[in-house]
Amino acid sequence: MNTLFPSVNDQQTSALISASPEVSVVVPIYNEVESLPKLIEEITTTINNTGHSYEIICVDDGSKDGSAQLLREQVLTHPHLKAVLLRRNYGQTAAMAAGFNYAKGKVIVTLDADLQNPPSEIPKVLNKLSEGEGYDLVSGWRKNRQDAKISRLLPSKIANWLISRITEVKLHDYGCSLKAYRSELVADMNLYGELHRFLPALAYIEGARITEVAVGHKAREHGNSKYGIGRTFRVLLDLLTIFFIKKFLTRPMHVFGLLGIISFMAGSILGIYLTFLKFALSENIGDRPLLILVVVLLLTGVQLFCFGLLGELIMRTYHESQDKPIYRVREVVGKDSKDIKN
Ligand code: UDP
Ligand code: MG
Repeated sequence: MNTLFPSVNDQQTSALISASPEVSVVVPIYNEVESLPKLIEEITTTINNTGHSYEIICVDDGSKDGSAQLLREQVLTHPHLKAVLLRRNYGQTAAMAAGFNYAKGKVIVTLDADLQNPPSEIPKVLNKLSEGEGYDLVSGWRKNRQDAKISRLLPSKIANWLISRITEVKLHDYGCSLKAYRSELVADMNLYGELHRFLPALAYIEGARITEVAVGHKAREHGNSKYGIGRTFRVLLDLLTIFFIKKFLTRPMHVFGLLGIISFMAGSILGIYLTFLKFALSENIGDRPLLILVVVLLLTGVQLFCFGLLGELIMRTYHESQDKPIYRVREVVGKDSKDIKN
């Protein structure tokens, strides 16, 4: 039996489902007015065919081409559609975060508005989510990606390789927007910058089970891509952030403190050696480069150590201010399991 998506006809659950649908489709939109009618139609037909209860959340990211007005009209004729209109253009990550905040579904599917990921592929990621033991995140893999070779595919290949090396999440394609998440997972992840590309990595930090499934991809029919080659550098900077979050989230002192101690000890040993030369052998040490190294090592050691201490304080604030425990529970089974908070 498919436990992830209980039958829509189930009398008991249908009342609940009307409040929280099984699937929320979140679409960030920036100047995509030509694609919108077809997009909404295709999503509606596809999910109607699967039999799941659903909602479509279109987030207009401050479009200037009338996308917002079109969404206002579409809402009147599509009962499952909800439009969230942002005040200005905040970027794809923020638009997705807004969509996540308004989504009530048990499963959240994200999709681009430009129809490059055909909405007809949504069932593929949905079905994969409940395969085997069940996954928390299923990412689409644009196996036959239809984008410009040099300006898009090459940087993307390098970025994918780097991301998989650094984040330890083994996926072929991080940039594909067609993904399905369990809502609990999304609630645990905070999005900043252009981190939507690293959602699998963030999910991995949160202990998620992650997999991928090959999905179709088409060339853009309408409008233009919102990104150019400049995105590569922003991706690299975000990658650094993710690397640090992953490494140092719980024990910064273990990393910086250790480096600090090593540096301080090396400085001390060399310092003692120089002191020995000066006082026991009466050598002149004032013009030795080694002396400079000793000073640098000692100072660096103290600074790294303090950095680790500060990191510990910041991490405590980070966890405690959001009431976030340092662990994530998948489920609690057994008697009185409801009494246990988190
Ligand atoms: N997008 C957005 N805000 C932005 C830029 C893009 O909401 O500031 C949306 C855009 O409308 C599309 C998705 O994010 O639905 C992906 O953008 P695009 O197709 O330009 O990226 P590409 O597929 O070229 O990587
Ligand atoms: Mg696109």
